[in-house]
Amino acid sequence: MSKLGQSHRDPEHIQAWLIGGGIASISAAVHLISEAQVSGSNIHLLDLHPSLGGGMTPGEIGGTMMDEIRRFENVERPQPQKSALVRALNHGPSGLELVETKSLHIGAKNRLALVNLMLEREATCPRVSKNLRKYLEDIQDLNNVKTLNRTESNLYELIVYPIVTYLKEEDVHFHFNTEVTNLTVYPVADPALVTSLQFLQDGLEHTVSINPTDIVIATLGSTSAGASLGTNQSSPPNLSLNWENEVACDWRFWQRLAQHSPKFGCPNNFLSQGLRSTVETFTTTFHGPDFMVLYEKLTHERPGTGAIITLAESNWAISLSIPRQPVFSSQSRSTNIISGYALRPANEGRFVKKPMYKCSGQEILIEILSFLEFPTLLSTSRTIPYGMPFGTAPFLSRRKGDRPRVIPQDTTNIACIGQFVEIPDDTTLAMEYSVHSAQIAVTELMGLPQPPDEVKKSLLLEVLHLMI
Ligand SMILES: Cc1cc2nc3c(=O)[nH]c(=O)nc-3n(C[C@H](O)[C@H](O)[C@H](O)COP(=O)(O)OP(=O)(O)OC[C@H]3O[C@@H](n4cnc5c(N)ncnc54)[C@H](O)[C@@H]3O)c2cc1C
Repeated sequence: MSKLGQSHRDPEHIQAWLIGGGIASISAAVHLISEAQVSGSNIHLLDLHPSLGGGMTPGEIGGTMMDEIRRFENVERPQPQKSALVRALNHGPSGLELVETKSLHIGAKNRLALVNLMLEREATCPRVSKNLRKYLEDIQDLNNVKTLNRTESNLYELIVYPIVTYLKEEDVHFHFNTEVTNLTVYPVADPALVTSLQFLQDGLEHTVSINPTDIVIATLGSTSAGASLGTNQSSPPNLSLNWENEVACDWRFWQRLAQHSPKFGCPNNFLSQGLRSTVETFTTTFHGPDFMVLYEKLTHERPGTGAIITLAESNWAISLSIPRQPVFSSQSRSTNIISGYALRPANEGRFVKKPMYKCSGQEILIEILSFLEFPTLLSTSRTIPYGMPFGTAPFLSRRKGDRPRVIPQDTTNIACIGQFVEIPDDTTLAMEYSVHSAQIAVTELMGLPQPPDEVKKSLLLEVLHLMI
C-alpha cells in the first residue's frame, strides 16, 4: 500500500503507457523497472519526436550523477584557479567593468531580509516563500559561485543518452513520431479510470485498450512546445510567425484530458500567457581560440570556472555561459562553444536596433561582441538561435487547481507528471521537478511501500520554525 493508499499492483500483469519522451517520462520508466520490477517489455513510451538518442549504460557501475559532479569538481576542474569571482559585466564610467560577487555585498543584513521575506510571504505569496525555503540551505553561499554544481559536459549526453540506452537494453518499446490524440475514461461524470488511448502514428490512427490493472503516466504540456531553430543568417521562424499551431500538439492531449474534469488542471491558463514565457537561447561555435583568449583576458577566469555571466545592461536581458571545453564529446578540439539565453527577446537591442527574436544568429553575436567590446569574430563563428515561446511557462501565474496533482483525486490508473503538476513543497523549472513527479507517480500507481523522496528541508528553517 502506498502513502496515498493505492494498493500494490502485480508488476507481471501490467502494461505501462508513458506519454512523452522527456526526462519525466524516461525517469518514470527507470523507476518502473528498478523499483517496481516491471519488465521493460511491458513499458511503452510514446513521443511526438523522431528519437531520443542512445549510447552508453547508466550510472557507470554504481555511480550517481552527484558522484560524477564531485569527481569533476575534485579532479577535472581547470587548475590552478579553483573559484571564479565575476558574476556580471556592466558599462561604468571607465568602460566595461567586472561585477564581482563579493562587490554585491550580500551580507548578513540581506540574508536576514530574505529569511524575513520568506516567513512574511508564507500566507500571501506561498510560491516566493516555497522557493526561498527550498534554497535556504545555500544562503551562506550567495557570494560564492564556486558552490555551483557542474557536470563535465552537456546534460543530454550525461543524463538522457545513458538512460535511453539502458531503457533500450531493457526492451522498453519506443513509439516515436507518435501523438497521443485522445483517451476514454470511466465513469464519464467523474473519471476514475482510463479505459483506452488513441494515438496517431505514421498517419494511422490506433486505439489501445487500457485495463484497470494497467497504468498511464502522462507528461502534461511542454516548455519546448513551438520551439524553433534559426540559423546564422535567419531568426527562429516560430517566434515571428504564428507559433500557436506548432504548440498545439504538445499541449492538445492535456487540453483533451482537462475537458473530462477540472481535477486534471487547466492548460489554457499557461497557453493564454504564451508571450510572457518566451525565452531565446543561442549557441555559438568559434573556430579557433580568439574568443576564449579575449574572454580570459577580460575576466581573468578560465572557461568553465565561473557562474553564468549576466550582461547587466543588456536590453534583451542576456546571460552567457562560457563552459569548459569540449562541451560535446564529438566536438573538434579546434572549436570552442559558448551559449546564452535572453529573457526579454522582444526588446530592441542596445547595438542591433531590433528585437532579438527578429535577429539572425550573426546579429545576436554582433550585439554580444559589441557589449563585450571584442573585435568582430563573425567570419570564424556560427551562431544558432533557438526560440522557446514556453521556456519559462512553469513560472507563469496560476490559480489553485490549474496544475493537477500527480495522482488526480479519486483516480486509480493515471498519473500526471512533468513541470505542470502540483507537488506540495517543491518548486518547478529544473528537471529535478519532473523526475520527482515521475517518482511519485510510480510509487503511488504501483502501490510501493517506500515513499518517494521528500523535498530537502533546511536545518536553518527547522530551527527558525521552532523559534517563532
Ligand atoms: C533555456 C532553458 C534551460 C534549462 N536548463 C536547465 C538546466 O541547466 N538544468 C535543469 O535541470 N533544467 C533545465 N531546464 C529545464 C528542463 O529543460 C525541463 O525541466 C525539462 O526538460 C522538463 O522535462 P519534461 O520531461 O517534464 O518535459 P519535456 O522535456 O517537455 O517532455 C515532454 C515530451 O512530451 C511530448 N508530448 C507532449 N504531448 C504529447 C502527446 N500528446 N503525445 C506524445 N508525446 C507528447 C513532447 O513533445 C515532449 O517531447 C531548462 C529549461 C530551459 C527553457
